[in-house]
Amino acid sequence: MTATQETHEFQAEAKELLNLVIHSLYSDKEIFLRELISNSSDACDKLRVEGLTNAELLAGDEEFKITLDVDHDARTLTITDNGIGMNAEEIASNLGTIARSGTKAFAAELAEAKDSAKEDLPRLIGQFGVGFYSGFMVADKVTVESRKAGEEAGVRWHSEGLGEYTIEDIDRAERGTSITLHLKSKDDDDERYQDFTQETVLKAAITKWSDFVEYPIEMEVERWEGEDDDRKKINKVEQLNSMKPLWTRAKSDISDEEYAEFYRHISKDWNEAFGHVHFRAEGVHSYTALCYLPSKKGMELFDPSHLESKVQLFVQRVHITSECEDLLPSWLRFVHGVVDSDDLPLNVSRETLQHSRQLQQIQKRLVKKLLEAMGKKLKKDRKAYTEFWGEFGQVLKEGVWHEDGYRDDVAKLCLFPSSNAEGNDESEDMGFTTLAEYVGRMPADQESIWFLSGVDEKTLRNSPHLERVSGQEVLFFTEIDEVAMSKLEEFDGKKLVALDKGEVELDDAAKDDLEKRAKDLKKLLKSIKDSLGDAVEDVRLSARLNDSPACLVAGENALPPQLAAMLRAQGQDVPEEKRVLELNPDHDLITRLDGLRKDSKDRFKDTCELLHGQALLAEGSALPDPARFAKLLASQLAV
Ligand code: ADP
Repeated sequence: MTATQETHEFQAEAKELLNLVIHSLYSDKEIFLRELISNSSDACDKLRVEGLTNAELLAGDEEFKITLDVDHDARTLTITDNGIGMNAEEIASNLGTIARSGTKAFAAELAEAKDSAKEDLPRLIGQFGVGFYSGFMVADKVTVESRKAGEEAGVRWHSEGLGEYTIEDIDRAERGTSITLHLKSKDDDDERYQDFTQETVLKAAITKWSDFVEYPIEMEVERWEGEDDDRKKINKVEQLNSMKPLWTRAKSDISDEEYAEFYRHISKDWNEAFGHVHFRAEGVHSYTALCYLPSKKGMELFDPSHLESKVQLFVQRVHITSECEDLLPSWLRFVHGVVDSDDLPLNVSRETLQHSRQLQQIQKRLVKKLLEAMGKKLKKDRKAYTEFWGEFGQVLKEGVWHEDGYRDDVAKLCLFPSSNAEGNDESEDMGFTTLAEYVGRMPADQESIWFLSGVDEKTLRNSPHLERVSGQEVLFFTEIDEVAMSKLEEFDGKKLVALDKGEVELDDAAKDDLEKRAKDLKKLLKSIKDSLGDAVEDVRLSARLNDSPACLVAGENALPPQLAAMLRAQGQDVPEEKRVLELNPDHDLITRLDGLRKDSKDRFKDTCELLHGQALLAEGSALPDPARFAKLLASQLAV
């Protein structure tokens, strides 16, 4: 065949795009490999489908594969596939113009961003992927040779990306396409330069971006073989991708070991997963999801820079992004997994993803499935669930706080220690109760779900506030419990009520009695308040104590102390809320204090301060001045 070389101009938009790609400083240049391999994989898909009705096209070669060849001397990387190939017309229109919608959108966005945001360019390129042209990020010359399946003539396309490309006829024995990248040499100031002739660099990029491509990606590599004197270098072909898109297989065909291995692969977590959900959705949107609940928390669970979902997004088995924020809410950030969409375009941009109704619907379904899976575990294996809760409960509780839509469902999964059971590892429930179980145990005359919150369970178990509801069960809230649960307000129609807030509702007789006693002790209460000054909001008699002399009570609408601390940490101005000191009118201390008030001003003052400190200690709070407290105590003991 006589080679007739023709020179063509790139279409204007294509020229502009190429120019930008060539001069891009985009750091993740390795995505060119993902783009080219994905084109090759598409080409194999196309021929495989056409071959079903026209077996002649396959010409007996049905083993589709993608091959990487490196020429170290010439510094080239060639990506070859035995897919459908292109003829001269196709190559000109496919590689010389921009027709596809994704790239068009990219070009449009570029036109808008042009002057204002040149530095935004790398981001745009990374987001859109620019298909075939991305090769020009790493190569200064690109040669494509191709022969279309079922046709005789081969074609060579060549360009230096500068506005023109040439096309010529060639002889080519194999069907399919080879793309040869003449790799750019390292610029002195390019710190992120990667040498794509190196096996390790290629392997790493493929593992990251193309591991589950359905066709083998092969490469000839050098290996040492034999022992000692017989040791020699040999060349052998190795497969770089695992090709195992486990999620595309039927559940019944997947063994537990395979599920476990895949979990290790995507999570890099060597602990066994707690559970998984695997389902396929068909309909308006089709996708497959395989997501795992870990059993042990990772280091970064509370790292503020890692609060997004770890679920990976694939489109038709091609990896799009490792951390797709929109696939799961942040309170499920411990979940690992993949979602593989059939419908999203491969070059989907981050912006498109963010507003994609499709992703929102996937998220909804995924969350529902994960909550169901946790609910099942809670019912079936309480002990294992309680351990899981110990690892991730605190994150899940964020869901009660954040999500109007899922609040009740997440609340059903919450576990709390309660006054009913001592926390013990032996029992099935390990001393934790669900809200539903609590409500199930409530006597008919108990109207509210009682809770008490504080720094730790042990202190709460000894709190004087428990005396208010002697005998009735109380949930102990620690960590962010009260903050999260404050959004819940009620469960199963029962209000959640803090034992240490607001005034206790009393019947008329009890109220009259308390008021009368308060009147009798009016002077004493006033003197205590005067003595404590700003340390307390007020001093009054209590209807919540049996044994303890005093306790501190917050206002009905007081912010949970943990929330106040959170808001302050965010720089908000949250005033310190003073609390009311409530005294047990039946405690001997009252008579003693009244005596001191009349006899010894100094000792009265010291005793008031000690009483306040004692109330703080009893609820597990820190003393404002422990040294002073110790001194006062010692002097009182010496009397
Ligand atoms: P996209 O793949 O998103 O359509 P590209 O710029 O990567 O955009 O490629 C443009 C077109 O070139 C493809 O749609 C395809 O028709 C053709 N093409 C690219 N690479 C190959 C290949 N390896 N084999 C066959 N056709 C290819």
